Amino acid sequence: MKEEDRHTGGLGEVLPPLSEHEARVEAYRCLFCFDAPCTQACPTHIDIPGFIKKIATGNLRGSARTIMEANILGATCARVCPVEELCEGACVLNAEHRPIMIGRLQRHATDHVFENGIRLFRPGSPTGRKVAVVGAGPAGLSCAAELARLGHAVTLYEKREMPGGLSTYGIIVLREPVEVALAEAEMIAELGVDIRTNSELGRDITLDSLREEYDAVFLGIGLGGSPDLGIPGEERVVDGLEWIERSKFEPEKMTVGNEVHVVGAGNTAIDAATIARRLGAERVTILYRRSEREMPAYRHEYEFARKEGIDFRFLTQPVEILLEDGRVTGIRCVRMRLGAPDASGRARPEPVPGSEFTLPADQVIKAIGQKKPALIEALGLATEKGFVRVDEDYRTSIAKVYAGGDCIRAKGAASTVMATQDGKLAARAIHQQLVAAAAAAE
Ligand SMILES: Cc1cc2nc3c(=O)[nH]c(=O)nc-3n(C[C@H](O)[C@H](O)[C@H](O)COP(=O)(O)OP(=O)(O)OC[C@H]3O[C@@H](n4cnc5c(N)ncnc54)[C@H](O)[C@@H]3O)c2cc1C
Ligand code: SF4
Repeated sequence: MKEEDRHTGGLGEVLPPLSEHEARVEAYRCLFCFDAPCTQACPTHIDIPGFIKKIATGNLRGSARTIMEANILGATCARVCPVEELCEGACVLNAEHRPIMIGRLQRHATDHVFENGIRLFRPGSPTGRKVAVVGAGPAGLSCAAELARLGHAVTLYEKREMPGGLSTYGIIVLREPVEVALAEAEMIAELGVDIRTNSELGRDITLDSLREEYDAVFLGIGLGGSPDLGIPGEERVVDGLEWIERSKFEPEKMTVGNEVHVVGAGNTAIDAATIARRLGAERVTILYRRSEREMPAYRHEYEFARKEGIDFRFLTQPVEILLEDGRVTGIRCVRMRLGAPDASGRARPEPVPGSEFTLPADQVIKAIGQKKPALIEALGLATEKGFVRVDEDYRTSIAKVYAGGDCIRAKGAASTVMATQDGKLAARAIHQQLVAAAAAAE
C-alpha cells in the first residue's frame, strides 16, 4: 500500500501527476493535427493541439489559459472525463501507437495554475445586469463563471453546504479529490460570483422571487436521489450515492460486509463496488438485469472493475433482500432473458419463470441511477421524459429562466464536461438576450 493510501483506506487518487519531464516528452509525441479530431471530440472544444504545444515549450500558464478559456472546470474534467470515449478516443495515434495522454496533460497544466495561486481571468466590465444561478454543480459553476467574465453580477444559490455538485459529493476520490472541485469553486467566487450555500430553491427561495429580482435565472439543479428497488427488505439496502459520499468525507467510519452485492451497472455501481472492494470486502458482485452488452458503464470502467476483482452477474434481478434479526443474510434473485426493445431502445429484460435462486450476502448497495428532481414539476416547467425541456438557447418554458446540465439531459450520457459546456453556452445565450434587451430599451 502506498503511504497516502494508509490515510484514505486505498481510496486516494489513482493516477499520479506527470512530472515536468514526462509531460514534455508526452507533449512532443503530439502531431499537432490541423483540424484536430480530439478538439472536435471534446464537448467543450478545447484547442487541444494548442494547449499541448504550450506544454512542449514550457508555457504552462498559457496552456492552462487555452484550456480554461473553453472549459473553466478543466482541472476537474482532466480527471473525470471518459477520455477513452472522447478526446483520446479520437486521437489519430490510436491506430498505430497509443493515444496522447490528453487528460493527464490537461491536469498537468491546470494543476500548475492552482498550485501556484495563478488567477487567469478577471470579471468583465460591469453591465449593470443581475443573474441568479441555482445549483453549484459543473453546469451552474460554468454558467456563473462565464457570466461574471461577461460583466454580469451573479448570485449562485446552492442547497448543500459546499459547492461543486457531484464533483464534490459524488465522484470518487480515486478519480478526483474534493479539494480540486472546491479550488475551482473558490476561483469562480474570486471572479465576483456571490456563492450562497445552504440556500435551496423551493425551500429558502422561490422561482418567482428570483425572476422578479434578477434579469435572468439559470437552473443547474442536477438530478435527485437514488430510486427505490421496490422489493421486500429494501430498508436494509445501502444507498449507493450516500455510500460514495461517505467514502469522500469519512471513509474511516464506514463498515463494509464480506459478501457485498451492488445492484445496477452504471458508473455509480462501478464506483460503489470499487469502494467496497478497497475497504476490504472479500467478494463484491455487481448484479445487472440485462446482459454485458447493454450495461451503461463504459468498457474501460468495466475492465477497471474486473481488475479490481469485482465479479459481474448479468441477467439477474433481485426480488427480495433476506433479513435475519434485521441483518442482511442473502439476496433472492430471478434469472432474466432479453425480449423486444423497450422505450430506451435496449432489449427489455423479462423474468424467466421458476428461475429464482438465492445468493449469500451481508451487504447490498443499490446504484440504479438518479431520480428526476420533483422540483422540476413543482416549478411548473415543461418537461421531456421528466427532464427540463429547453430550446437550442437553453431557454425553458418559463420566461427569463434557462437550464442546463443533468437536469436537461433527456438524451445521451450525463457527464461533467457536457454539463460544463451547457453552462457556458447558456451563459452566452443569456448574455445575448440581455444585450439585445438593453439595445431595445435605448
Ligand atoms: C456516482 C457518480 C459518478 C460519476 N462519475 C462521473 C465521471 O467519472 N465522469 C463524468 O464526466 N461524469 C460523472 N458523473 C456524472 C457527473 O457527475 C454529472 O453529469 C455532473 O455532475 C452534472 O453536473 P450538474 O451541474 O448538472 O449537476 P450536479 O453535479 O448534480 O449539481 C447540481 C447542484 O445543484 C444543487 N441543487 C439541486 N437542487 C437545488 C435547489 N433546489 N436549490 C439549490 N441548489 C440545488 C445540488 O446540491 C448540486 O450542487 C457521475 C455521476 C455520479 C452520480
Ligand atoms: S475536457 Fe475532457 S474531453 Fe475535453 S479535452 Fe479535456 S479531458 Fe478531453
